[in-house]
Amino acid sequence: MLISGHSALVTGGGSGLGAATARRFASLGARVAILDYDIDRARNVAAEIGGLAVQADVSDQAAVDQALEEASQQLGGSPRIAVSCAGVGHAARIVGREGKLSFDVFEKTLRVNLFGTYNVMSHAARRMMALEPLESGERGVIINTASVAWEDGQLGQAAYAASKGGIASMCLPAAREFARAGIRVMAIAPGLFRTPMMEGLPDEVAEAITANIPFPPRLGEPEEYALLAEHIVTNAFLNGTTIRLDGAVRLPP
Ligand code: NAD
Repeated sequence: MLISGHSALVTGGGSGLGAATARRFASLGARVAILDYDIDRARNVAAEIGGLAVQADVSDQAAVDQALEEASQQLGGSPRIAVSCAGVGHAARIVGREGKLSFDVFEKTLRVNLFGTYNVMSHAARRMMALEPLESGERGVIINTASVAWEDGQLGQAAYAASKGGIASMCLPAAREFARAGIRVMAIAPGLFRTPMMEGLPDEVAEAITANIPFPPRLGEPEEYALLAEHIVTNAFLNGTTIRLDGAVRLPP
């Protein structure tokens, strides 16, 4: 009952998993704000679904707060659904060629993926707390996006895996903290999905990856992520956990 007629915020909604989620929630009657630092992408999706595009870098706390303020005003209320899909996936060895360390990659990845998710979750939850609860006692739902790399991070994914592991680890304590306010927190850990993030991979890498997916033997479709996001929002007993959505893949080293 949290979707139709309510506001939703989807970060990274200009592309891939976020765009599919924004489309799905809009089709179910939500008023959707698409937050992305690439405003053109956000505008394209917003125009398609009759939603709102807001520009912010999720790693910038003040910008996230301002974007939520704009979304709340324009959509006629603070979002009861906040889905964090904004993320980056840089690969780098911890100690690279000639001993070059990859601290810059580590820092950037943590800033966007982990700090960015924290920023959106914290600002969204604070606003949800000020809303009237629904009859069910619920005030809102937060869905964060981890990755199977959280558990099976591959070579060169130390930074990415750390950022996604942080998202998975925050889930339970955040759910416990917000429980009294009737706000649930969940995370989805996608396996390998057909999005621009994956399309950047060389063919042989993509084929090797797909070969490891037991069933179905293909990449996940963004709509399948959106379907789980819908289920999480509508199933009030799901709280405080991270769900792998991966066709049973376990990534090799
Ligand atoms: P994508 O690259 O298609 O979309 C990501 C969107 O986030 C883009 O529109 C981008 O502009 C936006 N973005 C990036 N950094 C941002 C920032 N600092 N502030 C605001 N917006 C920002 O990626 P995707 O494949 O849809 O991935 C979405 C999420 O799912 C990411 O967190 C990613 O790590 C995770 N994930 C994806 C896969 C996959 O196979 N595609 C697998 C596991 C996890």
